[in-house]
Amino acid sequence: MEQNPPPPFPSPEELKTKITEFMKQNFGDRVSVAAFPAPEPAEAETEEKPEKIDNQEFEFNFLPRDIKAHLDRFVIKQDEAKKVLAIAVCDHYNHAKYLRQLEKENPKRAELTEYAKQNVILVGPTGVGKTYLIKHIADLIKVPFVKADATKFSETGYVGGDVEDLVRELVHKANSDVNLAQFGIIYIDEIDKIASAGNLIGRDVSGRGVQTTLLKLMEETEVPVRSMNDLQSQLQAAFEFQRKGKAKRETINTRHILFVVSGAFEKLKEQVARRVRQGQIGFRAEPVQVMDNELFQHVTTKDFVEYGFEPEFIGRLPVRVVCLDLDADDLFKIMKFSEGSLLRQYERAFRAYGIDISFDDESLRLIAEAAAAERTGARGLLTVFEKLFRDYKYYLAGSGLSQLRVTAELVREPKRVLDRLMAEGEKQEAKMLEAAARQFAETFGKEHGLEIVFDDSALRRLVERAQAERMNMNDLCAHLFKDYQFGLSLVKKNAGRTKFVLGAEAIDAPDKCLSELVVQSYYPGAGSAKS
Ligand code: ADP
Repeated sequence: MEQNPPPPFPSPEELKTKITEFMKQNFGDRVSVAAFPAPEPAEAETEEKPEKIDNQEFEFNFLPRDIKAHLDRFVIKQDEAKKVLAIAVCDHYNHAKYLRQLEKENPKRAELTEYAKQNVILVGPTGVGKTYLIKHIADLIKVPFVKADATKFSETGYVGGDVEDLVRELVHKANSDVNLAQFGIIYIDEIDKIASAGNLIGRDVSGRGVQTTLLKLMEETEVPVRSMNDLQSQLQAAFEFQRKGKAKRETINTRHILFVVSGAFEKLKEQVARRVRQGQIGFRAEPVQVMDNELFQHVTTKDFVEYGFEPEFIGRLPVRVVCLDLDADDLFKIMKFSEGSLLRQYERAFRAYGIDISFDDESLRLIAEAAAAERTGARGLLTVFEKLFRDYKYYLAGSGLSQLRVTAELVREPKRVLDRLMAEGEKQEAKMLEAAARQFAETFGKEHGLEIVFDDSALRRLVERAQAERMNMNDLCAHLFKDYQFGLSLVKKNAGRTKFVLGAEAIDAPDKCLSELVVQSYYPGAGSAKS
């Protein structure tokens, strides 16, 4: 009996389209298929990839002062924040280490051990180094770091999944090492935007909803490694199960994840300043500009609750730190002393065009002042640099200029200085090209025993052509005078001449000029070429 062959297995794309349609019909738009995994080649089936070893010991051997010293290399100012963060981080990871050990030796006692996690709330305006501090801490202690804006959670209408995605993102950042991800740092900015309890923000999610979900993560919860919302990872899990008969570790525990939340808390500042002013007559007569450390000492949990946070939520953020505003002097120091300074980036960018850029202090002061006026912290530096050097990069790259000294004049009148530099650059390039033309003549003379000299008009024309055609001078001369060795040797033989002065006409019509010289050597008095 003849059997029909089975229908061909659909391609990953076809399968993806089919499943997407099916999911859409049944569940609406909330489910997405990112990519469908192609069936793995046969040999991969047998080759088991080594699985990450979970429960590998997480090493942490830092002192608060080590962390502060590391931060000092990159972050200017914010000394109080550096200190408080260094202590919080050490306490957090030392405790995590202790607990891991205890879990092995005495699981019961480990379970009973109480600990208030050192989650951090960072208060401060934008661009003053909040993220930068946390990123460098994560870099130093080698844990994965994930940053998100709290406002993002309110936009999508599905809070739980998004917040949990942050935890999964840690696994991604840890190269799928779930164990390491469990010691990661999650940083959530703009937390003040979800503070208005009861207020609906975004589509249908309240700030309270986000707080509750975050609270669960900050306490302790198990987050599935594979999102229920992500069909791709669900299918991958199914494939894996089929193949190996077992699925990989499924959840990430958030117990040891350090949470840092931050925000500008503008209104909190006013709120506390008002209270402090009322309580302490004469404490501050003028309106308070920044949430400085002094004022922050008066902030209580009640203030945060009044601001719109759930008491449980704010209660899970025991470490409170302020990052101060940066003034022009701080921005100057950032440029000059921070290892991550923007100056290094610009030095590299210009060096790639063969230009050594350097800055004098006066220019840096002016840049710092302009950046401070932007009122975006150190981000103002980026804005000022970008604007100041955009044309410089464009016009000086490939101009032949090799040194660029940034002075106060350049910062004040960038256009004028650029015009001047370009004119100078052209002059300098012309000089270099002239020298190269003379060098060609000299080598020609040495190699062939025939002296050629370019007069001023010839040099001018050679430079013009080399610049217009963006040609190397030696190549240009070799091309123009390719027949001169033969032709001039003939002249030498006929007339005994060994020196030839060439003018602009030799550049415009080299062949004509050469034939005139040759003809003249046969018939003296017939040609017009100079001798
Ligand atoms: P935010 O406080 O808004 O989190 P960031 O930490 O992201 O600001 O700062 C933006 C950039 O500005 C950083 O990547 C860093 O280059 C620079 N920067 C900000 N503050 C400082 C600082 N105190 N010292 C050195 N660089 C800083």
